[in-house]
Amino acid sequence: MAIKNPITAIAAAIKKSADIASYYATEGIDLQRVDDELSAQRMQICKSCKIDGKTGLIMPFYQCRVCKCFMHFKTTLLFDPVESGKQGEKVKTVCPLGKW
Ligand code: SF4
Repeated sequence: MAIKNPITAIAAAIKKSADIASYYATEGIDLQRVDDELSAQRMQICKSCKIDGKTGLIMPFYQCRVCKCFMHFKTTLLFDPVESGKQGEKVKTVCPLGKW
């Protein structure tokens, strides 16, 4: 889809960034962890994940091919700091494809 007015798109991106920064400034970043068993289960699913015939993880840093998150870290988190910032409320950490 073509962007009709790049200035409008840039302004919207700046506003979104300001909203995210404001959320972090007032709410902070919640890095509560899930228990070790759950994070290990999530990581196991990621390690066996296949997307279009390729591994779901990009090596060497175990990044998810879909969300580009570093999965050794993301699988340990109760709340997703990026999605929470975007949505302005705490959002549970999930696989973008619903695998966990
Ligand atoms: S988060 Fe989901 S899509 Fe990404 S590697 Fe893990 S299981 Fe696959």
